[in-house]
Amino acid sequence: VADSTMYHAKSMGRNNVQFYGDIVHLKSIGREHMAIQTRLNHAVLGNELQVFYQPIVNARTGQVSSIEALARWHDDSVGWITPQLFIPMAEKLGLISELSEQITVQALTKLRGWRDRGFMQPLALNVSRNLLFSPRFVRNLIKTVEEFKLRPADVIVEITESLALTDQARQSRHLKQLHESGFKIAIDDFGTGYSSLSQLHDMPIDILKVDLSFTARLNNESGRRIMQAIVQMSHALGLDVVVEGVETLEAARFLQGLGVELMQGFHFSEPVPAGVCELYLQLGLDGKI
Ligand code: C2E
Ligand code: MG
Ligand code: MG
Ligand code: MG
Repeated sequence: VADSTMYHAKSMGRNNVQFYGDIVHLKSIGREHMAIQTRLNHAVLGNELQVFYQPIVNARTGQVSSIEALARWHDDSVGWITPQLFIPMAEKLGLISELSEQITVQALTKLRGWRDRGFMQPLALNVSRNLLFSPRFVRNLIKTVEEFKLRPADVIVEITESLALTDQARQSRHLKQLHESGFKIAIDDFGTGYSSLSQLHDMPIDILKVDLSFTARLNNESGRRIMQAIVQMSHALGLDVVVEGVETLEAARFLQGLGVELMQGFHFSEPVPAGVCELYLQLGLDGKI
């Protein structure tokens, strides 16, 4: 694992929990790496992982358009550990399907509660490459959604671009199956893989999430032109566009000028505990753009 692996530190903000990167080098706990794997195993089996929620905002209205569930792990001795570390670890240890199931159940429990209080926004779940190989995963997801008396259309399945555009027949069959069952499919981190327009056109995709690395480059002219091209292409393909990593008002305004309605990022909110997300559902995030 790279030395630059980040552990996120927790600090209380005004009305939410912030995960700015206090960087701890993994090297300093190198000998404890095995211990961390053991503790992840323990945390997953003990159902100790948590879910935070980040709103995807309609910047025109300030209302929450959908909500992304993001896994969080707090270890007593290390602190908050980023999913960029523990998701790949869980995949390696064969824990990903158990982990994913727990995140799904926790998040759908919240979604059920929000529905019962009249909030109709869909929930986005991140799905690992490994899981899309498994017919069991597809069956379980459909079953779990039914058990919560929710509809597949209440759930957005987020998969990363490299996965979505793979030519693995089995994976794309499962993706089509999910889509035909009514789930919405989003391509996550778009722009980081290798896709062609024709591939995108053939995929069962509803939403394109533009990777935050493009948003970070809006401060120069070529970055702005690339963003404009991506947005135009997505709209031409009839896809909904979400731009990730919107951290500033300037970025939000520029994107609005391009016709982007759906945005996600620290400018609107970091991932927050369910209770804070519910406040957003009630109050919206007006006045921020
Ligand atoms: P992702 O799905 O692309 O999620 C977006 C990531 O960007 C999140 O990091 C979020 O906290 C961060 N982010 C949001 N707004 C901003 C912003 O304005 N600026 C910056 N710099 N970052 C922003 P997080 O929560 O650390 O998650 C990292 C990745 O871990 C996710 O990327 C996703 O691929 C994976 N992940 C998280 N939860 C799960 C899960 O339950 N299952 C699976 N399979 N993967 C997960
Ligand atoms: Mg995602
Ligand atoms: Mg992303
Ligand atoms: Mg990502």
